[in-house]
Amino acid sequence: MTRLQIFKFGGTSMGSAEALRLAFARIQEARPRPVAVVSAMSGVTDLLLGAARSALEGDPEAVRAAVGAFRDKHLQLIAGLVPRRAARLALEALVDESAGELAAVCESVRVLRELTPRTLDAVAARGERVVARVFAEFLTERGVPAEYVDATEILFTERTLDSLWPDLARCEKESRKRLLPLVKKGKVVVVPGFIATGPDGQVVTLGRGGSDFSASLLARSLGAQKVTLWKEVDGLMTADPKAVPDARVLPELHYREAAELAYYGAKVLHPRTMVPLIDRQIPLFLRNSFNPSFSGTRIAGDVGAGEYPVKALTAIHAQALISVEGKGMLGVPGIAARTFGALSKAGHSVSMISQASSEASICFVVPAAEADDAVRALSQAFAAELEGKVIDAVKVERPVSLLAVVGLGMAGRPGIAARTTAPLARDKVNIRAIAQGSSELNITLAVKEADAPRALKALHAEFQLDKLRPVADTHGRGASVVLFGTGQIGRALARQLIHQETYFRHDLGLQVSVVAACDRSGFVFEEKGFSRDGLESLLARKEAGKPLVGKKKTADLAEGDLQKRGPELVKALGALPLANPVFVDVTAVDDAPLIRQALERGFHVVLANKKPLVAPQAQYEALFALAKERGLSLRYEATVGAGLPVLDTLKKLREAGDRVQTVVGALSGTLGYLMTQLDEGVPFSEAVRTAHKLGYTEPDPKDDLSGMDVARKALILARTIGMKAELSDVAVEPLFPASMAKLSAAEFLARVGELDADFAARVAENKRQKKVLRYVARIEKSGLRVGLEAVSEASPTGRLKGPDNQVVLYTDRYKANPLVVTGPGAGAEVTAAGVLNDILAIATSAPAGPPSGLRVNSR
Ligand code: ASP
Ligand code: MG
Repeated sequence: MTRLQIFKFGGTSMGSAEALRLAFARIQEARPRPVAVVSAMSGVTDLLLGAARSALEGDPEAVRAAVGAFRDKHLQLIAGLVPRRAARLALEALVDESAGELAAVCESVRVLRELTPRTLDAVAARGERVVARVFAEFLTERGVPAEYVDATEILFTERTLDSLWPDLARCEKESRKRLLPLVKKGKVVVVPGFIATGPDGQVVTLGRGGSDFSASLLARSLGAQKVTLWKEVDGLMTADPKAVPDARVLPELHYREAAELAYYGAKVLHPRTMVPLIDRQIPLFLRNSFNPSFSGTRIAGDVGAGEYPVKALTAIHAQALISVEGKGMLGVPGIAARTFGALSKAGHSVSMISQASSEASICFVVPAAEADDAVRALSQAFAAELEGKVIDAVKVERPVSLLAVVGLGMAGRPGIAARTTAPLARDKVNIRAIAQGSSELNITLAVKEADAPRALKALHAEFQLDKLRPVADTHGRGASVVLFGTGQIGRALARQLIHQETYFRHDLGLQVSVVAACDRSGFVFEEKGFSRDGLESLLARKEAGKPLVGKKKTADLAEGDLQKRGPELVKALGALPLANPVFVDVTAVDDAPLIRQALERGFHVVLANKKPLVAPQAQYEALFALAKERGLSLRYEATVGAGLPVLDTLKKLREAGDRVQTVVGALSGTLGYLMTQLDEGVPFSEAVRTAHKLGYTEPDPKDDLSGMDVARKALILARTIGMKAELSDVAVEPLFPASMAKLSAAEFLARVGELDADFAARVAENKRQKKVLRYVARIEKSGLRVGLEAVSEASPTGRLKGPDNQVVLYTDRYKANPLVVTGPGAGAEVTAAGVLNDILAIATSAPAGPPSGLRVNSR
């Protein structure tokens, strides 16, 4: 599956050279790559429709003016945008051609005095087509290869009842066939919105504001990850801010709420936009292209009622309330049916109906401009009843406003209707009619137009919509964690994620979920992220010694199996449209090539695994170069000092212009423990055996005592501050003689006592000089060394206790008095915390920001 998203730029976002530059910036930084749907430049559709109308009215002057304005607007845009002459000339010719065609079509309308819907569509379609071509050219000129594809090649409609509706299956087939190969080639496809192919192959339009609909249609057809509508407003609001000054932007809404708002007059969104998205659960974002740092409104299917039963208010003005009244109507069947029958025959669609329970009146709302005609139709239909006084009168009241109170939480919650009417009564707003939609998603009120602003303010205050704050509002910010390894660290990490979920979501506005976990037996995944329960049961399974997949005991699976699983995992997960995917390696597998694959497939990477970072220097640099090139993060805080902010501190120093000269570190919890045991006079062998029994050491204690683990950390630190070195460049002093290196763990433990006398002598000698032994990594320009050092008892390193880790940084600024980071530096919990911090750093960084990871810059 190709990962992609849809961006749609509205008329204002295409309205000027400056606006197109902003649109370019949004596209350039976007990951995954967007397919762009564009509206006509603001005002252009009106201009075109006006030209056609003027032609019909026989006003050639007005037509000429409109054609000229259409031409000038686009030529001006091109002049400010495309400096290269050849490209500019081609676009100018295109504009001329389109303007010429417009003039010709209008002329034939003028002569024939006939304007068919087909002709009108052909006139209007050019607005988006021209600007889409200009934009595609501009993108390409600026180094983002783009290609124009006409909407009529990929979006098809059919006639259902009396209106056009997209042929979803055909849209899907054709747009995939035409666009996916281009997307795979890395092209940004630019498609004109608003238009499609009609039932007999002609170009049709999708209704005013229809390019929103084009975008969601395309998102569904292509299986996009999300749709973003870039507009000139911050998002959908709790109410029209012109009427209600303390209206707020809605951080999130359910599809149904958004549809209801759009239908009841929120002009920001075309009411049909949500329809293609719902069954595919594709989230829709409304963002402001002139305020791109604002998160906007997220519209999706996972949004609940929350604490606000009512989320927003809308108003439609200039309406008329018509009522058919008469005591004689009582019990007479068919009055309602005939009322709406007559209206429908006269071509009026009714927006609200309410019938008094006495049945003595039926009232409904139509646009004020249609009221006279509607009354005429009804008077004719009920001529006999009016004569016979079955119906007393058909009355009209206008102008009225229709207010809709919308929210998912209204359903089934009693008292909302009362809370709707009470504040209005208090403010002396007379409610002319009230109706609740059967969806219970809205209550609609008809009030005198003059009362509408007061009514809106009162309702807004009643439902405390001014208090709405962007809680639980992640706007797709977050991370999809792919967990490679489910050992102690992996499990501790999963626990921490479960534990912090609510905090991340509510306080940080982040959705961090685990989408896959892998162990030696294989991997399991859940594209939308494991639920809390799902993750708990995985953990329980692992804790019971069971593998993730199949029946074999974990103990029966070889470590090498894990190595094989990695590529499978990356391949499978890389094909899913995950939001901000992060590959988290908490294994000890030697897997630099795997990390490379993960980056190539678009994963950010977080490592607790040191192995890929101690690969040969060239490989190491290639990894970071790849991450940088792809705009991905490669972070590894947990590899040194576990959760201690060691690398983070180095990074901050460097960002502030400081330079690190020397790093001295106590980087092994195990060896730290042994050293402080020695301080207390415990014989070396006893300290080693206890540590082994307590699980402080690796199964073979020589793995710790060899110093190799510390050497790896030293190399990672050295490379992080820009030194070039290999693992073999680190001078390592093991804590046992070479003659013991080949012993098995058991043999070694049996003979470790042979080392006691030597250690005891060194400890005693140091004590006299007020010194203690520490196992230290020393990173200096002259070289890398890890081994025993006698340090003053009073120094920071000398004061170190137990398994605590420490890093001492000598820099240009921290010279005599170094910067010291000390704290617990071993154990699954703190290591997982270090990993979690890296994940959060990725989740909070702008979706496509430059890598904030640590780069090697050679001095
Ligand atoms: N340009 C069309 C209109 O003004 C479609 C759109 O902008 O969405 O209605
Ligand atoms: Mg660390």
